[in-house]
Amino acid sequence: MGTRWHVARHIKVLCALVFLSSGLQTAAYSETDAAPVYRLSWDGRSTILTVDISYRATAGKTSFSFVNDIGNSKSIFKKLYHIKVDGGGTFEIDSAKRSIVISHHKAGGHQLHYEVDGNMVIDPKNATIHELFQPIIEPGRLRIKAINFLLKQDSTKAKNIIVEWGQKPPALPYFVSLSPEATLNSTLTVPKADFDNLIFFYGDDLRIKKFKVRGNPYYEIVSARDTINDMETSLQPFFSTFFPRSYDFWQDKKPNTYFLFSAPFYTPGQTVNTGFAAGNHGFVMIYQGKYTLNNTMIVAHETSHKWIGGELRIKDEGERYTWFSEGVNDYITYYLLAGTGMMGKEDFVAEANKNRFEALYKNPVNGLHTDSLAKHFWDGYNYIQISYQRGFLYGFVLDNQIRLAWGGKKTIRDFLIALLAKERADHEGQLTYQDYLNVGAQFLPKRQLMADIEEYMIQGKLYDLSKIKLINGFHFTYHNNIPSLSIDSSVNIKETYKW
Ligand SMILES: [Zn+2]
Repeated sequence: MGTRWHVARHIKVLCALVFLSSGLQTAAYSETDAAPVYRLSWDGRSTILTVDISYRATAGKTSFSFVNDIGNSKSIFKKLYHIKVDGGGTFEIDSAKRSIVISHHKAGGHQLHYEVDGNMVIDPKNATIHELFQPIIEPGRLRIKAINFLLKQDSTKAKNIIVEWGQKPPALPYFVSLSPEATLNSTLTVPKADFDNLIFFYGDDLRIKKFKVRGNPYYEIVSARDTINDMETSLQPFFSTFFPRSYDFWQDKKPNTYFLFSAPFYTPGQTVNTGFAAGNHGFVMIYQGKYTLNNTMIVAHETSHKWIGGELRIKDEGERYTWFSEGVNDYITYYLLAGTGMMGKEDFVAEANKNRFEALYKNPVNGLHTDSLAKHFWDGYNYIQISYQRGFLYGFVLDNQIRLAWGGKKTIRDFLIALLAKERADHEGQLTYQDYLNVGAQFLPKRQLMADIEEYMIQGKLYDLSKIKLINGFHFTYHNNIPSLSIDSSVNIKETYKW
């Protein structure tokens, strides 16, 4: 990462991060199926959290790793102290693999002990990475993601991990992403598949409120550290309108629990608002200054990931289909905001042009082949943004193509609903690219779908938008080779994007 993050100054939505592939290594070490138990201890005042892991292993080697390389967590061992294994073992650190490799002389129950320093270094250049992805532990407050402080036993066959508190901090507002009703006295059973989405929030500043959205429990967590905004009022339209209408958009009746956490940056002088989605369980936003349309767009984008990017993803190891989970998701964000009346036509056109259409054609690396994206992802803002820009345009063009082919009777929404049905019918395995094409073929010729994706999403060619037919009242015009969208004054976009 290093100093490159000064470019993050302009990043408005930085949420691809949790959806990156995790680079999990497989180790041929001893296996066991007993759930490891993680006991956390903290006095509520210091910046040090103690973790004791009780686990079973056969004789020989077993390893524990940090699963994700998000946000420079390779250096995570700098934040770990007093690593100890019980009497029957020795260990070494493999920092390249982010692992602790333990050798046991005998099979049975064992213990690994370490301490995490969550003292946040105030560093304006790297604030986004620090505050989103590294443990924050300070007197009376704690915000930590499992992937950045709980070492995962690589070889276990256990389906769950158990988390409980040993020494507990005083009773203050406390929230666990995957178990919203949990208290400090609860023993948590976390499915291993959900480990990446496990986040702990604790603090004297937190205000936790529960809502019902189409019958589903939704939790809002805001911070009293924000002395500028009344976040509960600012976020109210999401609970009254956007979230319930999103369920209607997707025709989704499946029960779900969701949380929405928002808090100001600790680091002063930030100029971004940013966030990440915790799968389809909830999302975290950190922000600065006054609440604006930008915050609304981030909340909408991240909460829309509950469906696209969270539940609906195209199976792949790299970044080949990030244009779908990020860019198409972003187009749907605009769709939802326009259709609920939370974003008017002027803002819709201005934001789409500035941040998506024009930004893509001005992006100096816009010709990058998608298969090179993973390698360059952390090289800066232009690389991070490609998937958003390309996928947004693709979603927009696809929506227009479907509307035109079906005389206005079908839209991209019908395609997405069919994709969700397919994904759920397959017992929620991830969609394959073939699934995507097969479902898409109900709406447009398969050959056309494939050609568009291959040329514009994978190879990185730019659409000639002067040749793309759009629905009535929508136009692209080019100035100095940069296209921009305009929508006729006769068009009511709330009507165009209704459902
Ligand atoms: Zn996103």
